[in-house]
Amino acid sequence: MNNALLVIDYSYDFAAPDGRLTAGGAAQAIEPAIVDRIRAAHEAGEPIFFMMDLHFEQDTLHPEAKLFPPHNIEGTEGRALYGKVRDAYTEIMDAPNVFFIDKRRYSSFAGTPLNQLLQERDIDTVTLTGLVTDICIMHTAVDAYNNGYGIVVPASCVASFNGPAHESALDHFKNALGATVEP
Ligand code: ZN
Repeated sequence: MNNALLVIDYSYDFAAPDGRLTAGGAAQAIEPAIVDRIRAAHEAGEPIFFMMDLHFEQDTLHPEAKLFPPHNIEGTEGRALYGKVRDAYTEIMDAPNVFFIDKRRYSSFAGTPLNQLLQERDIDTVTLTGLVTDICIMHTAVDAYNNGYGIVVPASCVASFNGPAHESALDHFKNALGATVEP
């Protein structure tokens, strides 16, 4: 198995108590487990991809404009990595196998160079962490499945503002996408 770690949308807006689209306490609770995964992956020499939602001020043409309040706006603290995940990123950001990549849709694969970067590194399995389980993690997992990657989802490293949807997403990863859902 040749694994890459993805840390998805762990931004101030999605995780902070006063973030614009926050998953609240559930999002803050996964912070230490994500930091542990980042440190372990880095020590193992695995590539790490920090995938970050990017929106523009007053962009009414984006499909999410009708669905969610404005969040992760370009140039704001809202789209900075949150808390100790930010510190962990800062420690390793200059390493060659650490990437910070903007994305503009739920899936980390949509319109990004992620798939090419994984293929160039002979990655066959992706470990998905971050926010939120039933939206950006889900869409990334589906695209990973369709692109032939194995999927690992540590349940302690994903969260949502919607508890039941979080649980059913974990079921879907396991039962429909063949993912390994770890505790
Ligand atoms: Zn968004």
